[in-house]
Amino acid sequence: MYLELLLFLDFTKLLKLKDTSKHQGLRNQLAIILEAKGITDSNVLNAIREIPRHLFIDSSFEAHAYQDKAFPIAAEQTISQPYTVAFQSQTLEIEPGDKILEIGTGSGYQTAILLELKAEVYSIERQKELFKRTSLFLPKIGYKPKKFIFGDGYKGLKEEAPFDKIIVTAGAPFVPNPLLAQLKIGGKLLIPVGDKTQIMTLFIRKSAKEFEKHELGDFAFVPMLEEKN
Ligand code: SAH
Repeated sequence: MYLELLLFLDFTKLLKLKDTSKHQGLRNQLAIILEAKGITDSNVLNAIREIPRHLFIDSSFEAHAYQDKAFPIAAEQTISQPYTVAFQSQTLEIEPGDKILEIGTGSGYQTAILLELKAEVYSIERQKELFKRTSLFLPKIGYKPKKFIFGDGYKGLKEEAPFDKIIVTAGAPFVPNPLLAQLKIGGKLLIPVGDKTQIMTLFIRKSAKEFEKHELGDFAFVPMLEEKN
């Protein structure tokens, strides 16, 4: 009885992890939509074509997976809109081997894009449920970051600093100083700043004390939350 149950569970898992030529076709169309919206980096577009986004959301909502929309995942969080993921990835000009800190693992979709771009990724998530789920799921479909961390992104990850790039995928009410401090000289922090809506803001570290700031337009993210007590 137990064995049967186990086999059944494994079988449903296999079904859930299925990727088909129909999905591939939908991904190609999504890449065309993103290109029309201004994504020009061919490596980013290839990553969008490659990653089975339908596996990152509940299988009953599969039809929504390849629309250019954010979508609810667990713990009242969302998988970011593909355009936003592509925009952040393109803006950071990711090079193979870049050491990247990601704040807000969520579903792991942005993490997978960074890994497709051959970056070395450290990803922090503060919701236990998402941390557990995504750190099991991503390696299962072949995406292995250097580290998944359950913790508070406001603090960054001092023990692994400095980073070439830091990407924040939740709306931050202010720019956390530790994140600026953990950048290499020449490194980039990309962070949506604001309460209800956010301004995508890029900081480039010019020297120990100087940062160049660029504001890159309005976006909407779930809030970056302070540490749980
Ligand atoms: N890139 C993810 C975005 C998920 S939404 C995706 O596309 O799936 C933002 C994520 O940031 C949520 O999972 C949320 O739990 C997480 N988050 C919010 N505040 C945080 C914090 N202080 N530290 C780390 N993660 C945080």
